[in-house]
Amino acid sequence: MKVKIGSGSIEIVKGDITEQETDAIVNAANNHFWMGAGVAGAIKRKGGDEIEKEAVSKGPVEVGCAVITGAGKLKSKYVIHAAGMGQNLRTDKDKVRKATLSSLELAEKHNLSSISFPSIGTGVGGLSPYQCAPVMLNEAIEFLQIAKNLKKVVFVLFDETNFDAFKKELERIFTFKK
Ligand code: ADP
Repeated sequence: MKVKIGSGSIEIVKGDITEQETDAIVNAANNHFWMGAGVAGAIKRKGGDEIEKEAVSKGPVEVGCAVITGAGKLKSKYVIHAAGMGQNLRTDKDKVRKATLSSLELAEKHNLSSISFPSIGTGVGGLSPYQCAPVMLNEAIEFLQIAKNLKKVVFVLFDETNFDAFKKELERIFTFKK
């Protein structure tokens, strides 16, 4: 599913974020950037340990902030590590909102035109996909309206529940706006 926002677009796909060819993919990270399970584990396995090494060297940061690193052997050029949680591995809508915005800002600052996000906070973080989807989608929609470089934001959802939550929310936002 794809919707146009200004001169850009938001896309919802079901799949594996490590296979995406956008300029950057976003890692659902903790604020020290150790890469263990979930999205982080998949990125490290496929992209190489150097991604974790570079990310850790740029941390720790406050929860809600993001850093950018190379992408090792992955197809994307960069990985943006969004700290959606601290060392207690807890998250909430506000942390996810800030981590999403920080990632978008970092992509824009580095002149990137496309970025892929996972549903931050819905794995280890324990946030419901139905809480995560409106927060992340609204940040992306608002940002695309002011962005100069960033044109394409893709949400890559790993399972049916997350995919459904994002699809339904995007449909709801656009039915409401019409
Ligand atoms: P967090 O710690 O922010 O909750 P996780 O990495 O544990 O982050 O999970 C975030 C979401 O990403 C979960 O819904 C999880 O199922 C999903 N996920 C796990 N692996 C991948 C992958 N390779 N591509 C896309 N999404 C993934």
